[in-house]
Amino acid sequence: MMSDYTDTGTESALLLGFVILFIFIICLIFFIREVFSHYFRHRKRLRPADVIFLYQHNRYFRNLSLPLKRLFLHRLHNLWNIKEFVPMEMDEVSRKTEILIMSMAVQLTFGFKKYALYNFKKIYVAPDTFHMPGASQPYAGLTSSQGYIIFSEKALFNSIATDNDGYHIGIHEFAHAITLDTAYEHLFWGKAYKTWKADARKKIEVIRAGNNTLFSDYSGTNIDEFFAHSIEQFFEQPEVLAERFPKKYHSIRQLLKQNPIAAEYPLESDTSWEIMKHDSAEDLFLLITGKKYPSIDILLRHLYSSNII
Ligand SMILES: [Zn+2]
Repeated sequence: MMSDYTDTGTESALLLGFVILFIFIICLIFFIREVFSHYFRHRKRLRPADVIFLYQHNRYFRNLSLPLKRLFLHRLHNLWNIKEFVPMEMDEVSRKTEILIMSMAVQLTFGFKKYALYNFKKIYVAPDTFHMPGASQPYAGLTSSQGYIIFSEKALFNSIATDNDGYHIGIHEFAHAITLDTAYEHLFWGKAYKTWKADARKKIEVIRAGNNTLFSDYSGTNIDEFFAHSIEQFFEQPEVLAERFPKKYHSIRQLLKQNPIAAEYPLESDTSWEIMKHDSAEDLFLLITGKKYPSIDILLRHLYSSNII
């Protein structure tokens, strides 16, 4: 009788042990999933057709040297996987539109180590211009301090049809975004921005007086609009801006840590190696997680060897 009692006791203790272990394992799985949820989600992968599309529609990407194309694609891939695209007044956002929008964010932040734009998690896309409550005019693009950006797909594609006219809705909205994202706050306290701002105030007066020759009338609305428009010009007409307003060009170059006139290698040399190191670490993590992601190198080699890009 005594031994039966002991056996039952041991069995109960064992059973309890198993139950506790089971609960612990379940909790551990949930904990790991929560912490690494980013890597458990289905990751979007770039395909050769995406790179060809980008090559055809983004001059900045097209002109980059091969190592920087690789870096650009890595950033695009990472950024694409952390942003949520939400269709507005349409069924879905096309893959091409998503890639195009992401390429504009990568372009603008290419000189920075931090490029995630974490404060902007959602990107809404409307088929055409859209209305906002309380505003009489329709919008082609809007960046909200609430952490989202809205694009009109039609206006976006229209603005990239000509890539040297100084107008680019994508660059314009992401320029607003970096002024609102806390990761870049320090830039707007720095010397480069202060120099730019002092010069910009004078230019806004010229625009308002109607003596403007290079900048849009809308850019005279306020300092934020003038900043966004200046960044559009910096990328679309860098030579023109540098020749006519060298001080302005230089301060934006310092602010964004890149020089688009050097199209193949626009990154400022003092930051580029750090950036390469940073991205290699991300590559490694991607490899360690075991995701079957086709290497950007393989993708690019394939496109190069086929004379596609
Ligand atoms: Zn604006």
